[in-house]
This record gives sequence, C-alpha cells and structure tokens, in this order.
Amino acid sequence: MCGGAGSFAAFLERMNTSLELRDGRYHFGGLPVDDLVRMAGTPVYVYDSAIMERQVKRLKDAFADSPLRIMYACKALTNINVLRLLRSYGTGLDTVSIQEVELGLRAGFAPEEILFTPNMVAFDELKRAVELGVHVNIDSIAMLEHFGHAYGGKVPVCVRLNPHIMAGGNERISTGHIDSKFGISVHQLRHVERIVKGSGIRVNGLHMHTGSDILDAEVFLQGAEILFEVAEHFPHLEFLDLGSGFKVPYKPDDISTDIEELGTQLGARLKRFNAGRAKPVELWFEPGKFLVSESGVFLATVNLVKHTTATVFAGVDSGLNHLIRPMLYGSYHHIVNVSNPQGRPRIYTVVGYICETDTFGWDRKLEEVREGDVLAFLNAGAYGFAMASNYNSRPRPAEILVHQGRAHLIRRRETLEDQLTAQVEVTL
Ligand SMILES: *Cc1c(COP(=O)(O)O)cnc(C)c1O
Repeated sequence: MCGGAGSFAAFLERMNTSLELRDGRYHFGGLPVDDLVRMAGTPVYVYDSAIMERQVKRLKDAFADSPLRIMYACKALTNINVLRLLRSYGTGLDTVSIQEVELGLRAGFAPEEILFTPNMVAFDELKRAVELGVHVNIDSIAMLEHFGHAYGGKVPVCVRLNPHIMAGGNERISTGHIDSKFGISVHQLRHVERIVKGSGIRVNGLHMHTGSDILDAEVFLQGAEILFEVAEHFPHLEFLDLGSGFKVPYKPDDISTDIEELGTQLGARLKRFNAGRAKPVELWFEPGKFLVSESGVFLATVNLVKHTTATVFAGVDSGLNHLIRPMLYGSYHHIVNVSNPQGRPRIYTVVGYICETDTFGWDRKLEEVREGDVLAFLNAGAYGFAMASNYNSRPRPAEILVHQGRAHLIRRRETLEDQLTAQVEVTL
C-alpha cells in the first residue's frame, strides 16, 4: 500500500469486508457510511449480516461431508439480534456464563442448542444450567466430582480437556498450554475415568479449545488426534468439540486458518473414526471471531488533529473504553478515513480521548485527516462492543445491524442515566 487514493480501495477489495469505495463515497453493506453515521451518530459499531451468513456457509461447506454442528461462541458479540440471526443461519450457541445462557434462551435457542463452557464458576451456576436444560462442559476434576455427587448418571456431561498444545496469537489468548487454567489435563485421564466410573457419570462429549488466532490447521489436527484417542475410553460419546481459535485476516496478506483444508483432512479422519463405532459422533466447533469479526466496523469521528514535535495525532471521539483490543492484545485494526477518499495520504497515530494512553494504531497511512472526518476501524465485529466499558464515565456506543440492504438500530447510545441506574445514592 504505497500512496495514491486507489490503493486504499484496493486494500479493501482484498479484505472480506462490506466497506467499499463506490462512486467516490464509502459504503458499508451497500449503504453510504454518511447515512449510517446520521442514523446513530458516532461512535457506533455497524455489522453486516451478509458477512456472518457467508462465514457460516463457508464453515458448513468446508465440512459438508461431516456431521457438523457450529456453536457460535457468543462472548464475541452478544447483541440479541445477532444471536437470533445466527440461529436463523443454523448455529447453536457456546456460552461462558449463566447470563449468556439466559440471553441465548431469550434469543430463542432451545436448551439443547446451547453449550455452557464456564471456567472457575461456582457449582450453583452449573446447577442452574442443568435446571435450564443446556449441555454442560466440565472444566476441572473437582467440578466433575461435585457433578457426579449431585447427578450421578442422570445428566450427561461434556469434559473439557487440556491437550497441552501451545497455540494461539499470544499468551493472553492461548488457553491450551501447560500453565493454562482451562480444562482437565489429558494426563489426568485415569483420574477422570475413576470419577466417571465411581459416580456413573455419562460423558457425552469431549471438548478442547486451545486458544485464539491459531494459524495452523495442523494444530487442530493434532488436537483432534488427542481427542480421537481419548474418545476410545468413553462409550457414550455423541460429539467431539474442537473449540475454536480460527484466525481471520486483519490485513490482506495475513494468512488465516485454511478452513477448507481442515475440513477435508479432519472430515476424512472423522469418517475413519466413526466407521469403527456403533453410533457416529458429531463434530462441533465454537467459532466466535471467525463468524463475526469481519462483519463489523467501528466508526468514530475525529475531534482533533494535533501536531507534536514528533508525530501527528488524530484524536477520535472514542477510546480504549470502546475498542480495547489494540491496547489489550496489541491487535491490528485497519483504519480508513471514510470522509476524505480523495485526500492525500499522510502518516498519523490514531488515538482516543481516554485519560491514559489509548492508541488505536501507530504510524498509519490515512487519506488526509481533518477535524470532523469519520474513521472506520475494520474487524470490529468480535470483542469490540462486547468488551466496551463506561471507563471515564463515557456512554457505550450505539450498534447498527445492516440486513438485506436496510440499517437497523439494535442498540441506542447510552446516557448518563443508564450509568446511574444501578448506583444507589445514599445520604451520608
Ligand atoms: C472464546 C471462546 C471461543 C471463541 O474463540 P474465537 O477465537 O473467538 O473463535 C470458543 N470456545 C470457548 C470455550 C471460548 O472461551
């Protein structure tokens, strides 16, 4: 990408995004970005359902020959309209808190379409999930024991294993390594078997989720191989759940997980495995990022362009309170000045208004940025709004869903009143 207005559009054309330059104006999901901004103001998250649908289809197609179930890991983006939409595209739900379970039920998922995969929760929360009738995933030996005491063989469970595979974009999002708090070590398999036998627990699924941003299809295949081996010890198995961690491209040249290759190889392996079993097992995945990351952009308005001795800052009406990934994980979000497609490219460091360092992108080439311009941040569908907070007492952003050529406001911008509703004012 070296200068010239055309290269900005060329970049976008090579990304799986709904942001495009058409007739000299930026559009998202076929609608002028200006119209979307007018609808809700900024900052605002905008999602395009067409990309979510395309991603679901891509995964289904890749595993067309396998008994596949896609459980959307909803912590990535929990707006209830998005949950309903993904259900209509045929996914189930992977949840990590009882609140997500209840949200899923409220969105219309049947209990058997929901898997509860918590970590370090109180047993009460697991009991509540059982009452609600959802699948539960057990993540520790102690919890398996509690579960066996309480339910014996009455409620089937899935067991989350830690295969000790080192994978994932960085250590904060890697969950399968030796020091990880997640899952039951595969080396504790004998112990698991003892508890299962002793309490008559019916293990209907085995699960692993080794982290986020896993590039290599080989890592999934390695993980799957471990599950296939362990599976021989559990006669009541109905599914093997390989979690997620599919990497999506943040730049055109980024390599992403080769889903199609994985589908071919894993599909063949599963077929061999199932050939030897009375009852074939299903293959489950729990993608979050893969389904929704590329569907979203985050729009913010430039408040100020500030020249310092060292750099030029573009400061927007948002910050790490609304999109924390760059500061938390060092994530790259491509930034486009959607207000000035003909502007001359210059180098900017894009920052927020939070009173601590909150940089969205260092030394980015943008079409000339002026006060009032709107900047678009790509790959904002996953872990964007979901991780937003009221830090600095700022309201959280609005959300818009573009569906079949129409924009819908699916969350209004918060007000100060919203922030005060849960506070209790006392006389001291
Ligand atoms: C977060 C999470 C996922 C989704 O991970 P992505 O990288 O967003 O695909 C899947 N399964 C479990 C158990 C998770 O905690």
